[in-house]
Amino acid sequence: MATPLVTRFAPSPTGYLHLGHVRSALEGWRAARQAGGRFLLRLEDIDATRCRPQFADAIIEDLTWLGLDWDGPVRRQSEQFADYRAALDRLEAQGLLYPCFCTRRDIQAEIARAGGAPQGPLGAPYPGTCRHLAAAERAARRADGADYALRLDIAAALAITGPLSWDENGRIVPADPLPLGDVVLARKEVPTSYHLAVSVDDAVQEVTLVTRGVDLFAATPIHRLLQALLGLPAPGYRHHSLLLDAQGRRLAKREGAPTIRAMREAGAGPAAIIAAAEAGA
Ligand code: GLU
Repeated sequence: MATPLVTRFAPSPTGYLHLGHVRSALEGWRAARQAGGRFLLRLEDIDATRCRPQFADAIIEDLTWLGLDWDGPVRRQSEQFADYRAALDRLEAQGLLYPCFCTRRDIQAEIARAGGAPQGPLGAPYPGTCRHLAAAERAARRADGADYALRLDIAAALAITGPLSWDENGRIVPADPLPLGDVVLARKEVPTSYHLAVSVDDAVQEVTLVTRGVDLFAATPIHRLLQALLGLPAPGYRHHSLLLDAQGRRLAKREGAPTIRAMREAGAGPAAIIAAAEAGA
């Protein structure tokens, strides 16, 4: 028997949903419903400084009003730190994590000193300053109570996994995380990050097809690498086009994209909102 299709929508409750979110939710919902599979909802709420319970409630309410129903309980990342800790421990045991004490300013200064590093797909890659700190120095700084982030040594990780790829809507795409640099997987105060949590959660929720905006295509090599290192299954991916505003910019809360709430209050019904979310897709 073929494995059932499992998709998910994974918004961060940092604001109200706008049409860009609805496009993303619809991609997953349609794919699952057409295949008789499952559509899951996950709230990516690890950043306690930006996420708010009222936005989480509003996401659930807006999706319900739109008729985009999901299967099973909502998974909230803020309740899954034990899962992320276990994944970090596994990477630590493979010798792939190192503490990084650099501030944002240190990193910029180091990049400037090196003559300005090329921009990577997720911004300028980390120049690797803390990768070679001696063990005694690391221990001393930690004992001093210094703030740090845990970074993944990408080159060492790739030496373990070998070359990787992923299935993008039936097409095999090479996954090269090296140009992204040693990404942060956790911080001293928040023992996870987007990359780690998304990789763990897609496996825990048994997601078989990740549908999300093309803005996250560049992050996928990191997710493939983490899946390989953690022995997690590799889902398929379908990165969809982004909804643009009249100026050709991607819809974003900070650019004043109208929220679904505001559109509802102005009298739009679910069908009109769904049609607007899919326009030009
Ligand atoms: N939480 C992410 C966002 O709201 C989506 C992550 C994903 O779909 O992998 O942009």
